[in-house]
Amino acid sequence: MALRLNPSLLGGTGMTSARTRSRMIDRLRQQGISNREVLAVMEQVPRHLFVDEALQHKAYDDTSLPIGYGQTISQPYIVARMTELALGAGARDKVLEIGTGCGYQATVLAQLFKTVYSIERIGALAQRSRQRLAELGVHNARLRHADGSKGIADAAPFDVILFAAAAPISPEHLITQLAPHGRLIVPVGEDAQELALICQENGVWVETRLEPVRFVPLLGGIAQ
Ligand code: SAH
Repeated sequence: MALRLNPSLLGGTGMTSARTRSRMIDRLRQQGISNREVLAVMEQVPRHLFVDEALQHKAYDDTSLPIGYGQTISQPYIVARMTELALGAGARDKVLEIGTGCGYQATVLAQLFKTVYSIERIGALAQRSRQRLAELGVHNARLRHADGSKGIADAAPFDVILFAAAAPISPEHLITQLAPHGRLIVPVGEDAQELALICQENGVWVETRLEPVRFVPLLGGIAQ
């Protein structure tokens, strides 16, 4: 599939090579990820370019990794799982991510949705991700430095709102920013977290708890 990023960056050698990426894809399949588009995108997006050089050899392992400021890039499985759930919305016009971090999930979503909005509360991460996405040639992601917990009312409605940080309680107030077919995908809880999916069934918003997960917490306010 044609990617919305600069093809000259898709190389890599040794632990960052196409072969290492393809082993990650085999593992995702074994873990139950079956959506072909998700697998095709993650096979190509150079995940190692989203972490510090010293950690690049671990970029395709089945693990989250530090990205500075006490934050982490999510493990490949959870990025794949949330992206698969996002595609379940059916429409692909606008997705909102809360918690840009290093911009990896946003870059994966940018290959599959027309426009990605992503909000990060830590200024330095927002700034670095903005620069990284520009270098990668990802032009359909709009990054904001703000507290994402209120969503973006003036860009609504979204087909999908996806949280990359765990909300203490279900952020039901954001349903007002979803299209009727829209999906809210959110890790909920503090010590014990579960991935929740909120969408309409027969005209009623319903929340389904899917599986245990482990995310950094959603925090209020912004930081430089
Ligand atoms: N999707 C990211 C994962 C980042 S970890 C990736 O692909 O790397 C979660 C991020 O959420 C952290 O960077 C954290 O600073 C951010 N975050 C936490 N609370 C937030 C809030 N209220 N608004 C915006 N970002 C928030």
